[in-house]
Formats: sequence, C-alpha cells, structure tokens
Amino acid sequence: MHTAVPHATLLAEQHKYVFPAVKPYFPDPLVLKEAHGVRARDDRDVEYLDLFAGILTTGVGHCHPAVVDAVREQVGRLGHTSTLYVTEPQIEAAKRLAAIAPGALQKTFFTNSGTEAIETAIMTARLYTGRTEIVALRLAYHGRSLMATSLTAHSPWRPLASPVAGFTHALSPYPYRCPFKQPCDDGCVERFASDVEEVIRTTTNGRPAAFIAETIQGVGGYIVPPHGYFQRVAEIIRSYGGLLIIDEVQAGFGRTGEHWFGIEHWGVEPDIMVMAKGIASGLPVGATIARADVADAWTAKTISTFGGNPISMAAMVATLDVMREENVPARATARGAQLRAGLEALAERFPWIGDVRGMGLMRAVELVRDPRTKEPDGKRAAALLSATREERVLVGLGGLFGNVIRIGPSMLITEEEMAEGIARFGRACERADRAAVA
Ligand code: PMP
Repeated sequence: MHTAVPHATLLAEQHKYVFPAVKPYFPDPLVLKEAHGVRARDDRDVEYLDLFAGILTTGVGHCHPAVVDAVREQVGRLGHTSTLYVTEPQIEAAKRLAAIAPGALQKTFFTNSGTEAIETAIMTARLYTGRTEIVALRLAYHGRSLMATSLTAHSPWRPLASPVAGFTHALSPYPYRCPFKQPCDDGCVERFASDVEEVIRTTTNGRPAAFIAETIQGVGGYIVPPHGYFQRVAEIIRSYGGLLIIDEVQAGFGRTGEHWFGIEHWGVEPDIMVMAKGIASGLPVGATIARADVADAWTAKTISTFGGNPISMAAMVATLDVMREENVPARATARGAQLRAGLEALAERFPWIGDVRGMGLMRAVELVRDPRTKEPDGKRAAALLSATREERVLVGLGGLFGNVIRIGPSMLITEEEMAEGIARFGRACERADRAAVA
C-alpha cells in the first residue's frame, strides 16, 4: 500500500484505531515504508541498516527477489484452499522441513504464527502422553495466546494471572546470572538440570507430558544454556515419561550457525519442534513438526483455514531454497564471529556492557550499572536504543529488565555491511555513554 499520510496523522490514527498494547519502539515511533535486503527506509526517507530483521524474520533479507517472485506467481494461480484440500506447495514445504529437521521429526502441522505452533505442540504432547502437565523455563517466551502467556515466564508479557493451568517453571539456565557459581562452569549444568527434576517431583504429579524450552531464550535476552544442558534435561524428562519440545521460533533456520537448528549444537533430538519467524521471510507461517508416532496420536478433527495456505507455503519453499543455495548456516557462523568480535571490542571500551553472548547471528549485549554487582541497567539500554536510531541502525531490546540489546540481521548480510553495522552500533554506544555522563 503506497500512502502519503503525514507522520503525525498516522501516529494519531494508530493511537485511535490500534490496541494500545501494541507498543512500537521509540516515543516517536519509526514508520517504515520500504525495505530491501538489509536496508529499510522510513516515511521521512531516512535509510537504516537493519540488524534486527523484523525480529529475526527476514532471514534472507527484506523482499528477497526469489521470495517475491514465488509469492507473485502463487497468488496469481491458487491463493487459498483451506486444509480441506491437498495442495502441492504444502506437501513440498512439509517434505523440506522433514529433510532438514533433526532425528525422527517427520510430520508437520502448519499454522499462521509461532503462538499457534506452540499451542499445537502442547496439545500434541498432551494427546500422545495422555498427561497434562508441562515443565517450562523461567524467562521463556512462547507466545501471546491465553495458553502461551501462561507458558511464558516474563511478568510484563503476562496480562492475566495464569489463565491456563498445568505449567510450571524451572530455573533459566542463565550462565551470566548463574545462582550456583560465578563464573558459571560445566559443573552448573547438573545443578540446572537437577532443578528441572525437582520441579517435576515437587510441582507436578510426577507424570509430566513434556518439557519445553527455547534453544536460546530469545525475549529473555539471547540466553544460551551451558554445554550439556539439553542432553541432561532430555534424559530427565524422558525418564519421567515426558516428551522434549524444542522452540526454534527464533533460533531456527541457520540462525545459530553451522546447523539448521539451534538444538543440533547440543546433539539432542526433540520429539516435537516448533518453528515460525524466519521460516518464510515474513509470510505468516508457524510449523510444528513431530515424530510420526507422536503426530499420529492426534486423532480428533482439526483444521486451520489459513494454515499451510499456498501463498505462505510458496514463500517458505522459496526461502528454504535461498537458504540452501546461500548456505546460511555457514554464513551465520562467519558473520556471527565478525559480529561477536565487534561487540567484544565494545565491551572492552564500555564497562556497562556486562556480557556479550549468543551464537551465530543471534547476538546480544547485556547492560549493567556495575560489572561487579551486575545490576541491570534498563535506562542505559533505552538510551542506547534511541542512540541506534540516531546512527540509523535497527536493533532489538530484550531481557526481563529491558537491559539487553539483541542483534539478528539477515543472514545474507555481507562482511562490509556487518562492519558498517558494528561501526554504527559503536557510535551509538559512544552516544549512550555520553548521555549517561551528561
Ligand atoms: N516462541 C518464541 C521463542 C518467540 O520468540 C515467539 C515470538 N517472539 C513466539 C514463540 C511466538 O511467535 P508469534 O509472535 O509468531 O506468535
């Protein structure tokens, strides 16, 4: 849609016609009108280098020509059928997922969002096991529905008091804020894993349906569990007869480098895996893939009118083609190493950068008032976010205290573009440093 509505009118109308719970970044929100590759342009014709990719979603860049062509072609041929009819694009997309998903994951149910894909995963685990209770992690984010907000463990993202029962939360395996030992080391894995077992023993009936976790806690601020963690929790949940559900909504599709999915770094095969965001370059696709016997346990009727629609599926297949041709896992490893080195150099300069973490092209810096006390510094993070806008680079905010800056650009970003992004982010850090001094 090409409009020339004045900036102030647009914001006034957003205020009037859109739920206020939808809170864009910045007091004077950015109005984006066009984007290609890693560049986005606002309504005042200012160009930004996009290092957040619509929350890690335009994984092969904005408006990739191959994806645009696939959508154009499909929308002019067959735009909608519902799941009452079989379509080639949906089967092709499901086959592609089965080919790259770890282990025995084979059958997929397509929806329109990560939230719905999570709902599908929980329902499937409950149907397969005949049990209800689910163990999740504190600082998890799994979506915005009644159920998913109960599963999510961030008070700001929980509008109601646990509207759906049956969820319980173990400690977040958060090395920077490890409650057991500082610095956290491999010995802490057993302690974090023991907490999962204790939660099963003390807060469930001892017969959990599943354990669910993001491979890297996204909204939590790119928290990477220590080596060995997923191996241990997989053993524990299975020893209690429950399934392992892995949420790859943010970490999937090459984002963490080297592999297609984050969980592969731990060498663990989930029973159910959930994907969305980068799967179709921004077309609304959520996917829940399960082992065949697990998927087959759902015998009641179900339908998703829009889920797996031919246009979204065509975008997904085209996205996966580009990802394979461009070898995005290897690119994410290379550009991720460059980004990490850049962020670590900034951490040397600015003592308020308490932690640099992440994997591949999913990297974060956690801001603190004092590196010894690690007191979260949400104010500095807000100042830094504003400063990034001044420097014309887009990044994200996260963490329970809003004190984590998240970076996750298109995985097709070039070395030069990444260098430019790091330089701009560095200048934003200088501004944020001065702002706090002033
Ligand atoms: N899981 C994770 C890990 C997410 O980051 C998100 C979205 N931020 C969701 C699930 C929910 O996805 P959606 O917003 O598409 O419903």
